[in-house]
Amino acid sequence: MQIANMNWFQLDTYLKHDNRVILPLGSTEQHAWLSLCTDHILASRLANEVGDLCGVPVYPGLPFGMAPYFSAFPGTISLTPDTYQRLISDILTSLYTSGFRRILIINGHGGNSPVQAQIHHWLNQHPGARVLLHNWWSAPHTRRQVQHCATNASHASWMENFPWTRLAGVTLPDHEKPALDVAQLAQLPAGAVREYIGDGNYGGQYQRSDEEMLAIWQTARQETRQLLEHGWVEPTAGQR
Ligand SMILES: [Zn+2]
Repeated sequence: MQIANMNWFQLDTYLKHDNRVILPLGSTEQHAWLSLCTDHILASRLANEVGDLCGVPVYPGLPFGMAPYFSAFPGTISLTPDTYQRLISDILTSLYTSGFRRILIINGHGGNSPVQAQIHHWLNQHPGARVLLHNWWSAPHTRRQVQHCATNASHASWMENFPWTRLAGVTLPDHEKPALDVAQLAQLPAGAVREYIGDGNYGGQYQRSDEEMLAIWQTARQETRQLLEHGWVEPTAGQR
């Protein structure tokens, strides 16, 4: 149920019997040999599939997030934390004003996760609302499914290489890259990050079988659906 395929009358009717909505958060940033829009593609696709399964409206995904460490790679767009937090707050307020009260944010990018603090700040001002920030790739069942395939798995490695994020005509390296030292990475400005991480893969093979990837995707769908259907904490009487 993409918002792009609904008019306001239809949404008005929906809001008479349900108050859930999905907002995907992505990023446009280097993903080694994969699409620059990998995080955006994955979060939006997961949101649309689960929204369709459950009959819940899905907003267009935000294609830009916080990725300052990748600024030295061509194509990366990074919003400052201040801009991003204001953006998320404004969107949440608009959703609330429309009548939504249970907002599932499907986040596809680790660099966006600090927005949780802003969400709490917003919830303090809207105690009757619920906002669930779901970092889909690191949720327990999905993470377990990934680790079941290979433990060396990270940003821009095989674990993000789905049929819908790999690019036609691009030949992938066939070796396994050793895992990067993330603590070391965190100390560096963007130019040094680019030097340190080379092609951009944080560690792992570049591709695994579609069978394994589809199993991971299936797990992510089930886990996300479970949250959308049963992951909400009921407001107490005073919060309604
Ligand atoms: Zn990614």
